[in-house]
Amino acid sequence: MATRSSAAASLADLPRPHERHTPAQLRERIDALGETPDACVVCGADELRKLLFRDGKWFWMCKACEFVWVHDIYPEFVDLSPDTPPPAFKQAPGAKDRADFEQTLRRIESVRQRNRLLELGCASGLFMQAAREAGWQPTGIEIEPQVAQATRDQRGLDVRTGEIFDAHLEDGEFDVVYSNEVIEHVVEPLALMREVHRVLRPGGMALMRTGNARSWVARLRGADWNYYRFAPANHIRYWSPRAGRALAKSCGLELVAAPTRGFAFRESREVRGRWYRPLLTLAQAPLSPLAGWVGAGHRMTLILRRPHGD
Ligand SMILES: [Zn+2]
Repeated sequence: MATRSSAAASLADLPRPHERHTPAQLRERIDALGETPDACVVCGADELRKLLFRDGKWFWMCKACEFVWVHDIYPEFVDLSPDTPPPAFKQAPGAKDRADFEQTLRRIESVRQRNRLLELGCASGLFMQAAREAGWQPTGIEIEPQVAQATRDQRGLDVRTGEIFDAHLEDGEFDVVYSNEVIEHVVEPLALMREVHRVLRPGGMALMRTGNARSWVARLRGADWNYYRFAPANHIRYWSPRAGRALAKSCGLELVAAPTRGFAFRESREVRGRWYRPLLTLAQAPLSPLAGWVGAGHRMTLILRRPHGD
């Protein structure tokens, strides 16, 4: 097994998504990465295979840790137009969101000591607001400057613009780091999670929510799985319980659990208006808890902890 190699090292030199580059500059950087990766971005192993081809890209899988990723990520990964409006986010939580927030807040209650919570990719701040109502003192990080500004202005929340590296956070400042649908977008997941390790207090907990590339749905649908969206969704990193364990090991955290849930061979929005939609919903319903029971649901939360005494 090789240690982190030149491919992983050169990833660090790539521009971050919010840095603007010309197509020619980006092309140059892609060419420098080479056509194929030499090592896994997460565990450093060098036995890799091409898992599938979609959107004009090869999706690679590490044979050791099952991490799946797109190697040739530019230029599509970055938005080249400075005029593109920022994504629209929900301004009020629905009943499902509220139930979901409550469940997460119950889960993190046992680690509350310093009362500090960090959300990566906080968008319009709905979860932060729920956390504040539960007595937490939350800080958010948001890469889209206009979204960050709007969330600060409209909700009076502490939102810092950019990435975690730009946020001037102190060592061991937080009891909890939370992110929902973020780690599938991150160019350098190890760098991010080492920073998460640094800002968590010993015994603090990170909850990273994402898709499960080893779920029943992902395996059944293959390249057609709706989460494998390089463009336009900018998903480039695909996790699983096993890849989560490798990630934890590589950044000094412990994987406490990786609960999964959900089985939807077709998401309801994919079959909107089709006559068989109610039948599909009915047929899928009992499979969802079963998939979660055996760790093969398609939605996953990596629950990580900074070791006590670390
Ligand atoms: Zn690996």
